[in-house]
Amino acid sequence: MAADNIDLVFGQPLIGEAEIREVEDTLRSGWIGCGPKTKQFEADFARYKSTHDALAMNSGTSALFHALDAAGIGPGDEVITTALTFVATINAIIHVGATPVIVDVDETTQNIDPVKIAEAITPKTKAILPVHLAGLPCDMDAIMKIAKAHGLQVIEDAAHAIEAEYKGQKIGAIGDFGCFSFYPTKNLTTGEGGMLLAKNPVDLDRARSRSAHGLSSDAYKRYTSSTFAHYRATDVGYKNNMSDLQAALGIHQLARLEENWLIRQQYWMRYREELSGLGLVLPCLPDTGVRHAYHLFILRVTPEFGETRDNFIKKMNGTGIGCGVHFLSIADHPYHEDRLGLNAVDYPIANRISEQTVSIPLSAKLTDFDVDRVVAAVKDISRGNPKAK
Ligand SMILES: *Cc1c(COP(=O)(O)O)cnc(C)c1O
Repeated sequence: MAADNIDLVFGQPLIGEAEIREVEDTLRSGWIGCGPKTKQFEADFARYKSTHDALAMNSGTSALFHALDAAGIGPGDEVITTALTFVATINAIIHVGATPVIVDVDETTQNIDPVKIAEAITPKTKAILPVHLAGLPCDMDAIMKIAKAHGLQVIEDAAHAIEAEYKGQKIGAIGDFGCFSFYPTKNLTTGEGGMLLAKNPVDLDRARSRSAHGLSSDAYKRYTSSTFAHYRATDVGYKNNMSDLQAALGIHQLARLEENWLIRQQYWMRYREELSGLGLVLPCLPDTGVRHAYHLFILRVTPEFGETRDNFIKKMNGTGIGCGVHFLSIADHPYHEDRLGLNAVDYPIANRISEQTVSIPLSAKLTDFDVDRVVAAVKDISRGNPKAK
């Protein structure tokens, strides 16, 4: 099996001793559910994002779901989002009963194209769901302007963009809601997990209750309060909260977030310099005033490179280096193509990127030697191609 030979695994998390000690402390504490460590992680995260509060969840997908749910979006409503994202973005819209309206991306940024958002608005449109792909912020001025003009809510999928900023504003705190993922490959990981921000405290309260059975108080308070009280369901809820075992990881991952960001920034810049001139399309630099989260380094293996994307990945894997694909166009997934009646020709840019995109390893866990090795492997593939420049 090819996977057995991959020793430079794509998306490796950097887990420190502090995380390990905190998980052990949690295990020994007598409370491993949603409790004091989750509260601390939420408070730390809110401070990092300069927001009034934050709600820790069991995944980024749950954060998206509860954002849509708290926004009151449901059957009969339309939500405009990008063709180039993980299926979770689309599925959250489907799960609240609304209809995802998929639009194409900008060729340079690979983010949702605001011009196409404006064209897709109908009387049923309730929200815009931009995804800050790879950690590069979307054109938020244009998106917020469209939202304001049409009375739409904005839900940011900031799964890639925890450290990102846009003209002095923190990504995920610009729209009405911001959703983060702490999946193992993300910039901050809790194993599995996510975080939700909401501009309106009432929306966050609603999400907090609806993500924990719709009860009037959370489990930790139920079991630790000295004044006995019944906690009654005031709503029908789901079960999507975080646990203290996950928060134990998150507290220390967050404390080292900026340090890790600096390491990835260096690697990202090195790739951009050292892989230029090979006939590959490299990611664009952020505009001035825009802070990139450097989550992914995405290459486009174009026909000029003289190699298909899939062969490129096979050759990288052959040298023991894992790669990612972010992402296949939504129109390329049989379920979504069928359910949403999508046609790939309506998304020519996302479709082209979908066929050419490949992400090479970018993680704070990598060493300079690992980065040398990735660069050398890409150059080797390039040299093996008579068509490559
Ligand atoms: C990872 C990811 C999600 C979902 O996060 P999970 O924590 O895996 O549920 C959503 N959107 C995008 C763009 C992602 O990359």
